[in-house]
Amino acid sequence: MSIWIKGGDLVDPERGVIEQSDLIVERGIIAKILPRGTFRDAGPRLRVIDASGKHVVPGLVDMHVHLREPGEEYKETIATGAKAGVVGGYTSLACMPNTIPPNDCSSVTEFILRQAQKAGLARVYPIGAITVGQKGDVLTEFGDMKKAGAVGVSEDGYSVANSELMRRAMEYARFHNLTVICHCEDTRLSAGGSMHEGVVSTRIGLPGIPSASEEIMVFREIALARLTGTPVHIAHVSTEGSVNLIRRAREDGLPVTCETAPHYFHLDHNAVIGYDTRFKVNPPLRTSADVEAIKRGLSEGVIDVIATDHAPHSPMEKDLEFDRAACGMIGLETALPLTLALVKEGVFGMAEALRRLSYNPSKILGIPGGVLRVGGLADLSVIDAEMEYAMKEEDFHSKSKNSPFIGMPLRGRNDLTMIGGKIVWQRDTAHIDR
Ligand SMILES: [Zn+2]
Repeated sequence: MSIWIKGGDLVDPERGVIEQSDLIVERGIIAKILPRGTFRDAGPRLRVIDASGKHVVPGLVDMHVHLREPGEEYKETIATGAKAGVVGGYTSLACMPNTIPPNDCSSVTEFILRQAQKAGLARVYPIGAITVGQKGDVLTEFGDMKKAGAVGVSEDGYSVANSELMRRAMEYARFHNLTVICHCEDTRLSAGGSMHEGVVSTRIGLPGIPSASEEIMVFREIALARLTGTPVHIAHVSTEGSVNLIRRAREDGLPVTCETAPHYFHLDHNAVIGYDTRFKVNPPLRTSADVEAIKRGLSEGVIDVIATDHAPHSPMEKDLEFDRAACGMIGLETALPLTLALVKEGVFGMAEALRRLSYNPSKILGIPGGVLRVGGLADLSVIDAEMEYAMKEEDFHSKSKNSPFIGMPLRGRNDLTMIGGKIVWQRDTAHIDR
């Protein structure tokens, strides 16, 4: 059966344009892209999707999620995380290795891909750990994990403290053509902290994490990128200093890319004043000056990617004293409206927003996606950019509900997700083609 996606505004982040075009999808690929109103062939085998008033965009690609399987299935499984992803407009997810056991060998990588296959929803791309057990001592077998399907390596959740080991990791990753994703944290400096170190932490009496704990490691990764020539991707940038370091590295022509997450451009450390643990995240929410710097970085293109750092936790880890609670918040079902808010604000245009949510992360990971072109994979989402609503706890498809954006007015949401030409999720009907 063919599908006609009719009447929508087609967003092309690669060329930076929005066009009134209809899409014909056949056998999993985009068979035709035609100017609106020019397609006439309504045979019985043609299913029509009315996208008028909506944007048709390349499926979103989240290069930083925690799916919690294996080991913490009570927080999230690959199936529930993939479901939350497709509801949020994502067609591809790259999952971080800090599971139990960590994804530090090919058998775990293969397990993740098998579970993703079973779920039959979003495409899942495993990221392998850099060191065995994420203990920081011995490099994992990059080649084995790559062969099993890993697309990158990261020590996310931790940092590789040993610079010599990180240098070798970059050299091996380059040899195996794996993307290096750096969680930047000097853990000696951040130890014991539970929020940003600044006036608010002093006032409310919580131990702080200085911006320097992030920036020291951002500087080191840039220095190692210069030394090894290996492209590095800096995860969840949260400070003005990090944005400035990355801007300078790019001006020097170094192969450095980076991401931030929606909470770093919507929330600052004042959110922590009520001790609500949903606002506890690592790196922590910073100052309003940092928030402005992140927006500037996004606007200028210094920040390439908006990822979610989707980090599900159960009440067991969150309903605790602030300093004992786990770090992280879910994000797959709110990232789209939170990013579209920047379009409304004038930080960047719609096509630029999609570049950061879809095109750039695909390119950085070296995976398909991020474009809508004739002959290409039909991985796409249909979004209603004007829809206004608020999320209630029961609206989330993620197994965990630790979102600080519950009840907040949002604008813009995904209405349909197609992967490889199959509609895997559609609002209202919740229809799934199998
Ligand atoms: Zn991280």
